[in-house]
Amino acid sequence: SPRVAEFEKNFAGYCQAGHCAGVNSGTAALFLALKAAGIGPGDEVITTANTFIATSASISAAGAKPVFVDIDGTTFNIDPRKIEAAVTPKTKAVIPVHLYGQPADMDPIMDIAAKHGIIIIEDACQAHGAEYKGKRAGSFGKAACFSFYPGKNLGAFGEGGAVVTDDGRIDEEVRILRDHGSREKYMHIREGFNMRLEGMQGAALRLKLKKLDEWNGLRRASAGIYRRELADTGGILLPEEKGHVKHVYHLFVVRVKEREKMQDCLKQKGIATGFHYKYPLHLQEAYKYLGHKEGDLPVTEKVMKEIISLPMYPGLTEEQVVYVCGEVKNFLSDKA
Ligand SMILES: *Cc1c(COP(=O)(O)O)cnc(C)c1O
Repeated sequence: SPRVAEFEKNFAGYCQAGHCAGVNSGTAALFLALKAAGIGPGDEVITTANTFIATSASISAAGAKPVFVDIDGTTFNIDPRKIEAAVTPKTKAVIPVHLYGQPADMDPIMDIAAKHGIIIIEDACQAHGAEYKGKRAGSFGKAACFSFYPGKNLGAFGEGGAVVTDDGRIDEEVRILRDHGSREKYMHIREGFNMRLEGMQGAALRLKLKKLDEWNGLRRASAGIYRRELADTGGILLPEEKGHVKHVYHLFVVRVKEREKMQDCLKQKGIATGFHYKYPLHLQEAYKYLGHKEGDLPVTEKVMKEIISLPMYPGLTEEQVVYVCGEVKNFLSDKA
C-alpha cells in the first residue's frame, strides 16, 4: 500500500534513520532484524530478563541463544557494567531494551559492542520518540525494532511493527523476508514469511505519527505530576529519569514493598495497575533449559518483586493523577 510506504518514510525520518520497513508486529520486527543481520544457530545474543518475552523469544526463533544479564536498579534497564562478562566468542549481538520509555545507557553499550565486534539491535518497542543525548531511540543500533500494538506510545488499529535502520542491506533483507522471500511476486530468492504491515495499519499510523510528540508530552506531564505528588512519600521509589535522556513514559513504574497488597488496595478504589513484568525471564519454565537458578541476576530478581505500574496514558487528567497519588499515600501510611 502507498500508505505503508509513506508511513515508513515518515517514521524513518522521525527516528533519525535512513530506512524503515513496516512489519506486522514488534515480535516480527525483532525476529526479522536478527535474521537480516545473519544471526542464527550457534550464536548468542545478550539481553535483559526484565522485558516482555518477545525480546528473548525472537532470539530463539532466529535459532540463537538468549543470554540474560542483570539490570540497573534505578533505571530498570540493562546494566552496561554486566554485559562484558557475558560476552563469549559466540556473542553476535546485544539487544538493549529501552524499557518503559527510557533509553538504555547507549554510550557504554556501544563502546563494548565496538570493542568486541558485536552488533546492537535496539528493542525500542516502548520508546517511540525517546531520546538519549539528543538522539532518538532507534538511531543507535545496526537496527531498531518498534511495536505498534495499540497500547504502545504509537499504536495502530491492530497489530503492527517496524525495523528502522541506516543499513540499506538490512532494510532490503527485512523487506524480502517479510514478503515470502521475494522482491517480485512468485520469484523467491529464499524462503521468507508473511510478516507484512497491512495497508490499513499504515494509513492509521501515518496519521497518528503526527500526534506522537503531543501524546508523549502529555505522558511526560503526568509523570511530572506523579513526581510532585509523591516526592516526599516514604516507602516508594520513583523511577529515575537520567539527565541526558528524554523518557517517554510508556509506563510509570515505581518500587514498593508488598506490591500485591498495594494493587488490591488500589483496585478497590477503582485504580488499575499492572506488573511489568511479573516474573524474571531467566527463571521462567520456558528458559529452564538455560539452567538458571535463583540468585543468578540478583538486581533483576529483587526489583521485579517490587515493581508496580501506575496508570499512564495520554488522556490521564491532573485530577486523576492526584487521586491515584492520594490513594498510594493512604496505602503507604496505613502500612507504616
Ligand atoms: C510490545 C513489546 C514487544 C513485542 O511487540 P508486539 O507488537 O506485541 O509483538 C517486544 N518487546 C517489548 C519490550 C515490548 O514492549
